[in-house]
Amino acid sequence: MLVVMSSQATKEQIDQVILAIQRMKLHPHPMPGPTRTAIGITGNNSAIDARSLEVLPGVEDLVRVTKPYKLASREMHAADTFVRVPHATIGPGTFTVIAGPCSVENEEMILRTAEFLRSHSVNLLRAGAFKPRSSPYAFQGLGEEGLDILAKVRKQTGIGIVTELMDTENANAVEEVADIIQIGTRNMQNFSLLKRVGLARKPVLLKRGMAATLEEWLMAAEYVMAGGNYDVILCERGVRTFSDHSRNTLDLSVVPPVKALSHLPILVDPSHGTGKRDYVPPMALAALAAGADGLLLEVHPEPERALSDGAQSLDFANFERLLTSLRKLAEPLGRTIS
Ligand code: PEP
Ligand code: MN
Repeated sequence: MLVVMSSQATKEQIDQVILAIQRMKLHPHPMPGPTRTAIGITGNNSAIDARSLEVLPGVEDLVRVTKPYKLASREMHAADTFVRVPHATIGPGTFTVIAGPCSVENEEMILRTAEFLRSHSVNLLRAGAFKPRSSPYAFQGLGEEGLDILAKVRKQTGIGIVTELMDTENANAVEEVADIIQIGTRNMQNFSLLKRVGLARKPVLLKRGMAATLEEWLMAAEYVMAGGNYDVILCERGVRTFSDHSRNTLDLSVVPPVKALSHLPILVDPSHGTGKRDYVPPMALAALAAGADGLLLEVHPEPERALSDGAQSLDFANFERLLTSLRKLAEPLGRTIS
């Protein structure tokens, strides 16, 4: 349910409604808008008794939200969400490129990549310290040592850090270093992890589960938002299909429905989506044309020597070429690459 306050409602009247919702043992989510405040209500297992709310001063309308996801829906929150981090605002209008190697391998390669990205006005570096690998014998990431490297390079270069959190145990350590916390495809429905990042004070990049429907994905976002963290960025990274010509099937057709049903920004990851570096640039351009809000790209100084995902990583020269093409395509689309 959404309580729409009148444009003349006072702060006291808004506070009264919030209090009334809390007395009903439900959770109020105030959403100030340019002309009026709306207050979303979650936490009910059955229909809310609207009568006690509609009589309160300043209440203009009560709107039932029909979708199972509430806070993530456009029904409850019509305006686009912009997620703000130092040096970047992720949302419609701009097109945010986030790039970096799959894993933190050592300090030298992270520093080199960060300096390269900064010199191209790319302000967010993504690299994993904790890696979810299909094989227990594959490189698992440097763990806390990897986080220390990210923290050091962040301080040295000013670049923002996006890094994956795999379990609640490491939540404090990752939250400390990350400007954006990544939740990987395999954890999209790890509900205890989602609840934990719902309490975090950093935005969450929520990758789509590799076999998740759009509704399941938005319900996962809802878990994070229900905890009070409204800064969720969705990321399409390919789904499992019968196709075997690429690592996954990049579902670009999910972008318009996400935009229709949700106010959250959506990025596209053509690296995991295709698994092959030659296929990354065309799908990156297609993601821009499809209306995504940005990209997550794997870039490595020496992809042939990468400890993970080298086959889908662009080298610096290919990344530069792609940036040039993105900038050319962005202009007629009225977008700016940031
Ligand atoms: C990654 O981003 O390196 C990664 C492991 O991604 P995903 O969770 O999409 O497989
Ligand atoms: Mn990877």
